[in-house]
Amino acid sequence: MIRITDIYKSYQIGKNTLPVLKGIDFNVDKGEMVSIMGSSGSGKSTLLNIIGILDEADRGTYNLDGIEVKNLNEKIAAKYRNQFLGFIFQSFNLINYKTALDNVALPLYYQGVSRKKREEKALFYLDKVGLSNWAKHVPSELSGGQKQRVAIARALASDPKVLLADEPTGALDTKTSYGVMELLQQINDEGKTVIIVTHEPDIAAMTKRNVELKDGLIISDKIIEPVRATLYV
Ligand code: ADP
Ligand code: MG
Repeated sequence: MIRITDIYKSYQIGKNTLPVLKGIDFNVDKGEMVSIMGSSGSGKSTLLNIIGILDEADRGTYNLDGIEVKNLNEKIAAKYRNQFLGFIFQSFNLINYKTALDNVALPLYYQGVSRKKREEKALFYLDKVGLSNWAKHVPSELSGGQKQRVAIARALASDPKVLLADEPTGALDTKTSYGVMELLQQINDEGKTVIIVTHEPDIAAMTKRNVELKDGLIISDKIIEPVRATLYV
């Protein structure tokens, strides 16, 4: 699904170059649930953004489901993002003036799905995350956990091949975090590939594979028996 070979990435800050990724090899197969760990500033988001075609590496190759991701113009990049990838962020990134239903339906609008189908699908995914009764509410009427569930429904709506989550539980209390992880585990059980960036060990323990970044390199990569979040919610 994801084949990353020897990628490098630096940021230019004034006259200084800050090397962040220094030769990363990273493969993810279909159906995996992987956590990317590392201290703050270790390059986790940079790597996830490259995987998500939100950013491009300076060097190295990236193959996503058979497609070489390289020098794409913004239109093609957006098309691939929409078609292959679903995003979840720490801060939810919902549109405040749109209802939960309209937030979930929005990516489908960009895919040219008809109004009726959009609403049907959005309702289906809201139901999947346990929020069918909240379809007509705007984000300010929802709790943090509910907002993240709406964001997950939105990420799933276009049936992406990979779900990318950058600190998805970073803004949530422990119990709510485990509820979100329970949902992500359930989505992975159904076959979806999930990649989660986190600095929280208890969240990483709920994935099937732990990858650790340090000083621009992957310093460990372990398959683990995931802790089931259901035990805690
Ligand atoms: P993490 O997600 O692990 O906290 P990031 O990938 O966000 O780390 O950042 C890695 C390093 O790169 C940090 O030192 C950060 O300050 C720097 N950085 C990230 N994005 C940019 C940017 N757009 N411009 C300049 N420096 C950046
Ligand atoms: Mg980050």
